[in-house]
Amino acid sequence: MGFMKHKLMEEQERGWASLGDKYVCDQCFDDYALTGFVQEHASSPKCDYCGRRSKRKPIAAPVDDVVEYIHQGVILDWGNPNDELPYETREGGFQGNVVDAYDLFQDGKRQKEPTVQHGGL
Ligand SMILES: [Zn+2]
Repeated sequence: MGFMKHKLMEEQERGWASLGDKYVCDQCFDDYALTGFVQEHASSPKCDYCGRRSKRKPIAAPVDDVVEYIHQGVILDWGNPNDELPYETREGGFQGNVVDAYDLFQDGKRQKEPTVQHGGL
């Protein structure tokens, strides 16, 4: 099996694609859980996204670690509608509230009750 095919299969199984050897700082996030995660896992003195640097201490965490953390948080509360909801064509499709990944991550658009996420991240 070729390297790229193996990598694609790995990403499909994991549910998200690697962003490579990049680092992101806590100031690139508004969410307190994410800023805390980045602060605890900081290992680089430079953020590849906003360009912030520190001469004294690491300020940025590996972005793939942050994405994995987000992914784990999302899959705790959200699922695939194909696995969790009945589908009735005559009743308009899935019998429940389905939110796609784009709407899920929009500012201030969180649903009152997490139900089912449509598709992968
Ligand atoms: Zn940053």
